[in-house]
Amino acid sequence: VGPATSTAEGGVGIIRLSGPRSEEFLRLSFRPARPLATMETRRLYFGHLLDRKGEVVDEVLAVLMRGPLSYTREDVAEVHCHGGPLPLRRALDIFIELGARLARPGEFTLRAFLNGRIDLAQAEAVIDLIRSRSESGSRVALGQLDGKISRSIHRFRDALLEVLSLVEAYIDFPEEEIEPPHLQALQDGVKGVLREVDGLLLTFDSGRVLREGLSILILGRPNVGKSSLLNALLGEARAIVTEVAGTTRDTIEESLVLGGIPLRLIDTAGIRQTDDPVEAEGVRRARDKVGHADLVLLVLDGSQELGEEDLLALEACRNERVLVVANKADLGPWTPPPPLAPFTAIPVSSHTGEGLDRLRDRIVGMFLPEAGGEAREGALLSDRRHREALLGCREALDRFLEGVSREDSLDLLALELREALHRLGTITGETTPEDVLDRIFSRFCIGK
Ligand code: GDP
Repeated sequence: VGPATSTAEGGVGIIRLSGPRSEEFLRLSFRPARPLATMETRRLYFGHLLDRKGEVVDEVLAVLMRGPLSYTREDVAEVHCHGGPLPLRRALDIFIELGARLARPGEFTLRAFLNGRIDLAQAEAVIDLIRSRSESGSRVALGQLDGKISRSIHRFRDALLEVLSLVEAYIDFPEEEIEPPHLQALQDGVKGVLREVDGLLLTFDSGRVLREGLSILILGRPNVGKSSLLNALLGEARAIVTEVAGTTRDTIEESLVLGGIPLRLIDTAGIRQTDDPVEAEGVRRARDKVGHADLVLLVLDGSQELGEEDLLALEACRNERVLVVANKADLGPWTPPPPLAPFTAIPVSSHTGEGLDRLRDRIVGMFLPEAGGEAREGALLSDRRHREALLGCREALDRFLEGVSREDSLDLLALELREALHRLGTITGETTPEDVLDRIFSRFCIGK
């Protein structure tokens, strides 16, 4: 038993039970408004929740969902109470007194997984959906919950199992008159899977961005308009803007959703030239921050000549993904000076909003090349764990192909195929180690 909704105040608060005694516990505590011979499955009944002494605890709606047509595939009962910490606590106590145990975090979803209703990738999608911070992020999670990733993995697995069966038939029955497998057929089968695995791996950049969002660092010397740009992008005044150079003392982090991508904008104090001999240290620190960002917006004051501090900032993000933003375009036209030749530069005005749309489109376009990819049909890889597993699978398949060209023994080749299959199985949960499962389900809240 567990609270299926938040236990804070709300319209309703739902207590969920799962397991073979759910119906019994519900019957013992729920008194329907009209006497019932039997409770129909998946039908909502109005009545009262009673404690052991028969005292009314709440006026509720109750539903019984008999397995296997339930979230966990077990018998599930839900009691919809008035939402509030106390009614929910009392309702929970009733079931615990009857003999139910408080569910562990994610236990209902774990049971759905263990009972085969969803696979591991789908279970992970449940928590992603709950945690998603943007519409596109939730769409990615929904696709995964719907089985998009799982279906790709099953397709790879089926194809590899076919190759493995060719290899194993010969290993297992060498004395029978089975022809040794054609090496070409083995190679073709595996190469086909490799192509598809690579295709799926390529979707990771977009998938990750949609799911986790981007961290964008706004860098530039004091007074070029970094805070103003941040505010303009956010559409409301949150960072402090002043006329005095160097007021963005602390790092300010703000989130927004741009073209479906959740962004974290990090406005840092500019790179300052100081009198101490620690100029290099300043650059090093900036570079450190820069190294953790997905994109750097290098802000310049377009109304002024490029100064030494600008060049310092430029230097700090030389090896990163950078967009140069020439701010204060309202003060006059801007042409990129020679040191900026290798960069994409966009003139904007944080004051008038000029150029901001171009900047936004550019950012979205950099990370979602198939922008507008709302109706994306195929599977989108967004989970690092899945990516690791696919990389492991790919390595095993590469070793398999090398082995075939070396004419390794079939036993060795079978080993690599099994390793590749094992890696695929960790995504869908067939071969996932216990501790990884624990880690995944511990991310859930109680009651999910
Ligand atoms: P930061 O130190 O880089 O964060 O710069 P601020 O955002 O605090 O801005 C410094 C000064 O530049 C302020 O006086 C702003 O009003 C001014 N400023 C910022 N953006 C623009 C712009 O697009 N056009 C003009 N004309 N002034 C701007």
